[in-house]
Amino acid sequence: MADFVKRQQFIKDLNQFFADEKVLAVIDRYRGTSGGGTVFVQQGGSYKPGETTTVPQLVVAIEHWTRIARLLDQKKDVSLELNVANTFYDDDPMQYDTIAEIPGTDKKDELVMLGAHLDSWHAGTGATDNGAGTIVMMEAMRILKALDIHPRRTIRIGLWSGEEEGLLGSQGYVQNHFGARPPMDDPGMKGMPTLLRREAGEVTVKPEQAKVSAYFNVDNGSGKIRGIHLQENEAVAPIFDAWMKPFKDLGMTTLTMRNTGGTDHLSFDAVGIPGFQFIQDPIEYETRTHHSNMDVYDRLQPDDLKQISVIVAGFVYDAAMRDQMLPRKPIEKALPREAEKKDE
Ligand SMILES: [Zn+2]
Repeated sequence: MADFVKRQQFIKDLNQFFADEKVLAVIDRYRGTSGGGTVFVQQGGSYKPGETTTVPQLVVAIEHWTRIARLLDQKKDVSLELNVANTFYDDDPMQYDTIAEIPGTDKKDELVMLGAHLDSWHAGTGATDNGAGTIVMMEAMRILKALDIHPRRTIRIGLWSGEEEGLLGSQGYVQNHFGARPPMDDPGMKGMPTLLRREAGEVTVKPEQAKVSAYFNVDNGSGKIRGIHLQENEAVAPIFDAWMKPFKDLGMTTLTMRNTGGTDHLSFDAVGIPGFQFIQDPIEYETRTHHSNMDVYDRLQPDDLKQISVIVAGFVYDAAMRDQMLPRKPIEKALPREAEKKDE
């Protein structure tokens, strides 16, 4: 937590330093070594109105970066021509979640949820992060609707915004519907959701929290489902093992107790709702498409996406029809705040 605020502060200070020094632009190189025209690029500073950076920042391919470095090494002048035309849109700072549902029957006040995030980074179109997750979840809903199954529990899909800035859309939704931690007074946390900040205090749950059996998420690219993370909820292992059996010949064979992080199931997990992320074939997610200019349509694997949709539809169906809701694990206790820690 303290690290998070410190890191934000450092980025602010660095951008202020660039502005004070009247730097024309900051040129960075991409992370990783895949090369071949792939450029990974994220943000250069705060997205908040009034805090946005004024110095243009660019990311170039490693081959171009090292060429500049070699020329500078030889004390040669380097001249670059830049054409940067960016705009911050401050008129509507809101982002919107998209929600839809198939109503249940005898247990219609109970929910099974599935979701993915709609937002992405600007260098590509976000086909694998997370267009892939979004379309498989929509397809799972379409399959269930087309089969006209009349589920016992209501099935609700959530397509979240603001995931890339810190799971903001799903945290906001969960805070409004299921439970929240108190706000934090640290200036770096002003107006930010605190659900995932255990230092903020204990979770207070709302009545609806007791009515959600499970939340399923897909956000690891275009590759096939190979299993599911149990998120340290051991009691669901035999249940998922049975649900997984029909999909063994499609390549889904692994249950792991492990926690996996980084995406929207964490918002549900934080308030004690069983939230799960599937294990996917990584293909080239980390090496090529994740937050890069190669995150485009051509990098999607249509057959793998069909496999994912079918498995998600199966798991959601099983959860919606089961006599009981899924077993839960306890909500994580609050952590002491930094100041209190020092006193100990
Ligand atoms: Zn993502």
